[in-house]
Amino acid sequence: MIAYQKLCLGPEGNNDCAMCSVKNEQKTCTLTELIHQVNALADPENLELCGGESTLHKDLLSLISSARGRGAKRIKLVTMGRRLADWDLLTELIDEGCRLFEVRIHGSRPETHEAITGDHGSFDQTVQGLQNLSTLSNSAEYEGAIYVAARVGVTRANLEDLVPTIALLASLGVDRIILARTASDLPTTKAARAVENAMRVAALNRIWSVCEGFPPCLMKGSEMHVAELLRPVLSETQKPKGCRGCTYIDLCNGPPEDVIAQGGLREFRAVSSSPYVEDVRRLLTMRSLHAEP
Ligand code: SF4
Repeated sequence: MIAYQKLCLGPEGNNDCAMCSVKNEQKTCTLTELIHQVNALADPENLELCGGESTLHKDLLSLISSARGRGAKRIKLVTMGRRLADWDLLTELIDEGCRLFEVRIHGSRPETHEAITGDHGSFDQTVQGLQNLSTLSNSAEYEGAIYVAARVGVTRANLEDLVPTIALLASLGVDRIILARTASDLPTTKAARAVENAMRVAALNRIWSVCEGFPPCLMKGSEMHVAELLRPVLSETQKPKGCRGCTYIDLCNGPPEDVIAQGGLREFRAVSSSPYVEDVRRLLTMRSLHAEP
């Protein structure tokens, strides 16, 4: 798996998402400060530009150009996708060398998406941004050169809308879907079943999907889609007692911290055996063999 170095451009956003973790935290970085951060990286080959809303930074194009000049080969833009509805801006971004996009979308309809973004009109712009990416991705000029992932925040508000959301994303030609638990107060097991169903629909549409925030004991039969299995693992003593003896103990980081804080540990039960654990280990070995140096 490619590890990206994150650059947070600033807190400015064009949505009012309740779950945004950066909007009150940082000031907007200047171009000089951002280039300084790129220069300070030991390996600037893979960069992730995020925010707030990355596309609102006034020097985004200059930053992409400078980063490319300093050795960045892959530049991933994490965005709500609203400004990608602007065809001219999108083509400028792509021509400057940004070819990887992670677009956040939270539903198949304005009612669901905007219940989370808090901004009327945001759904149509995000969908138009994804449509523009699809059109460019299928054009003779850029065919195969653009990669689009969609990140869906899983909350109580959109649990019933996950399958229609996957169907919408399939129609928009995205390459990968991430279903990320973004609320601590979800009924965890019920949410895991809804995510599993959504991932099955993605597979039927030949789209690779992963989930975040759902450990393998909640995703039996779908363990290969658990994103956390590809990340560094805490030692056994850092996990709750209930994880002891779990067949995934050396692969899994344990229940998510926010769920532990809510006292919701009873839904996480050690898995005594699984027909998938060796497949997961083989996948991890293959990924490390093919990882970038
Ligand atoms: S019981 Fe603990 S170690 Fe096992 S899959 Fe669940 S959270 Fe991970």
